[in-house]
Amino acid sequence: MRPSNLKGRIALITGSTSGIGLAIAQRLMEDGAAICLHGLADTAQIDAAISLTSSPDGVRSRHFGGDLTEPGAAERLIDDVERFIGPVDILVNSAGIQHVSPIMEFSLDRWNAVLGVNLTAAFLTIQRALPKMLARNWGRIINIASISGYIGVPNKAAYAASKHGLLGLTKVVASETARTGVTCNAICPGWVLTPLVERQIDARARQEGADPESIKAVFLSSVPSGQFVSPEQVAGLASFLCSPDASEVRGVGWSMDGGRLAR
Ligand code: NAD
Repeated sequence: MRPSNLKGRIALITGSTSGIGLAIAQRLMEDGAAICLHGLADTAQIDAAISLTSSPDGVRSRHFGGDLTEPGAAERLIDDVERFIGPVDILVNSAGIQHVSPIMEFSLDRWNAVLGVNLTAAFLTIQRALPKMLARNWGRIINIASISGYIGVPNKAAYAASKHGLLGLTKVVASETARTGVTCNAICPGWVLTPLVERQIDARARQEGADPESIKAVFLSSVPSGQFVSPEQVAGLASFLCSPDASEVRGVGWSMDGGRLAR
């Protein structure tokens, strides 16, 4: 596989102040892209993310804020990147939240927040960024879905609904852009040890009065390989999807899950 050469490309990665989004931002910076970070974080975390994603030859990444549960935030994000940096060539929708609760106790507020960040924000960023990609006949849209886009595990109603929806959105955008130089795909990770999963491990450890290490082992018991996926491995796949070799990969939901869906 030829490495991606993304020199001159502008990449916006939503939810890139930590976890998978940050690893993707680092990798796309190494591939040559100018990086626009986004996410909710304190100054120290933002500064750390900027220093990890600024290139050694002096192209400094920039952070954009915006709470994606707020009306207008997703559209403003694309407008701000276009105004301050330039049109988005690579859009990675990685911002995501989780809420764990049985369906009968699932509040409408939490449902709306999860759907808002995980699905509606992706719809809005794509809608806003796509016209300029089409005008230049090149673009890469990568939606970070999940194996919850394929299966429904208990207590994750909104998350599973949002990720199933994100896969549907990915396929429609890929179909609508199929005759252009813009591609749209999704990556569907299994367990990746990031703050999002660490919070779930800690919550369950507290609930069950158990040691977090033993809860990690419970999480991994459903994974045939017995391993967490690393954020860097997800980033490697994102890099491939930006490469010329991937220009006819369109509308896929590519799982990376240690064999979990294969069972
Ligand atoms: P993370 O918690 O490390 O990162 C989430 C990012 O989203 C952060 O930058 C955060 O600031 C941002 N964010 C959260 N709420 C926001 C809001 N309201 N407005 C704007 N930004 C907001 O989590 P992660 O594990 O890196 O998750 C990244 C993506 O990967 C998510 O879409 C998640 O669903 C998906 N995913 C994660 C796993 C996993 O096991 N970690 C597995 C499959 C899919």
